[in-house]
Amino acid sequence: MSAPRFADLPPEYAARVLHDVPMAKHTSWHVGGPADLFFTPRDVMDLASFVRLMPPQVPLLWIGLGSNLLVRDGGIRGAVVSTHGALGALERLSATRIRAEAGVPCGRIARQCVKWGLGPAEFLAGIPGTLGGALAMNAGAWGRETWGHVLEVEVLDRRGVRQTRKAAEYEIGYRSVKGPENEWFIGARLEFERAPGAHTDAIRDLLDKRKQTQPIGEWSCGSVFTNPPGDHAARLVESAGLKGFRIGDASVSLKHANFIINHGAAKAADIEALIVHVQRTVERIHGILLHTEVRIVGEPA
Ligand SMILES: Cc1cc2nc3c(=O)[nH]c(=O)nc-3n(C[C@H](O)[C@H](O)[C@H](O)COP(=O)(O)OP(=O)(O)OC[C@H]3O[C@@H](n4cnc5c(N)ncnc54)[C@H](O)[C@@H]3O)c2cc1C
Repeated sequence: MSAPRFADLPPEYAARVLHDVPMAKHTSWHVGGPADLFFTPRDVMDLASFVRLMPPQVPLLWIGLGSNLLVRDGGIRGAVVSTHGALGALERLSATRIRAEAGVPCGRIARQCVKWGLGPAEFLAGIPGTLGGALAMNAGAWGRETWGHVLEVEVLDRRGVRQTRKAAEYEIGYRSVKGPENEWFIGARLEFERAPGAHTDAIRDLLDKRKQTQPIGEWSCGSVFTNPPGDHAARLVESAGLKGFRIGDASVSLKHANFIINHGAAKAADIEALIVHVQRTVERIHGILLHTEVRIVGEPA
C-alpha cells in the first residue's frame, strides 16, 4: 500500500508532513533517494498521533541522525519519522541517573554528564548519532556500550501506545539489540557513576584520538562492517589490499579500511557495490564473511 498523499491527512498534519524528501539530506553518507513521507514530530504526543494516523500497512522507518544508514537510490516507500530536532529532553533524575529522549545527540549526553560530574559517558562523545540510534544499534566505543548503562527504555508501538520496558526484556549483543517488534525508542533512563573529577578534556582527548585514526569530517557512516570474533574488519580489509579501492565516487578509506567514503557524487548503488566487493574479496582471501554494521534500507533506483 502506498503512503497517504497530503490530501488524505488531516489539515494539522498535512502542512507538516513532507513529501518526496531526498534522504541524502538526512544521512551522513549524503546518499539516498526520496522518502514518500517525512515527519518530524513536535513531541511524543504529536508523534503518537501521527503513528496512529498512518494506516498499519504503511511502513515506518524511524531515524536519528542517519549516521548508520545506507538508503538506496530509489528511496523509502512509506513514512520516515525523524526524532532529531524533536524528542530532545535531557534531565538528571538522581545522583547517578539521567533520562534522555531518543532525539538527543550522543555528544550532548556525553558533555552534559561531564557537567553533572557523571561518568563514564565520555565514550558517547564521538558517536555522531542520537540516543535512539544508539539504543537500536547498541552503539559503543572504547570498550563501552550504550546498553551497559540502560535501566529502562520508553517505547512507542504501531498503535501509538507508549510503555516502559526494562533492559532485561532485550537481548543485547555487540551492535545488536533484539526486542519486541514494531515498536521504537522514544527515550531511556540511563545509569552512570559519580565522577566528580570528570572534565571536558577527557572528551577532547578521545575525539583527538579518533581524528588520528579515522577520516572524521569526510562523508561516511563510520565502521561499515562489524568486527568478526577475535579479529578486526579493518585489518582484514586492509590486508586484502582494498584500501583506496574505488567504485564511482565511493572508495575504501586510505586512513581506516573499515570506512567507505563518499567523495561527493557517489550513489548509494556505488557504496553498496563496494560493500559487496569488499565482502567477496575478504571472503576469498581470508575465508571470513564480513557482516554489515550499517543498516541498508529502501528501494534500488
Ligand atoms: C564518523 C562516524 C563515526 C562513528 N563511530 C561510531 C562508534 O564509535 N561506535 C558506534 O557504535 N557507531 C559509530 N558510528 C555509527 C553511528 O553513529 C551509530 O550507529 C549511531 O548509534 C547511529 O545513530 P543515528 O541516530 O544516526 O541512527 P540512524 O543512522 O538514524 O539509524 C540507525 C538504525 O537505528 C534505527 N533507529 C534510529 N532511531 C531509532 C529509534 N528512536 N527507535 C528505534 N530505532 C531507531 C534506524 O531505523 C536504523 O536501523 C559512527 C558513524 C560515523 C559517521
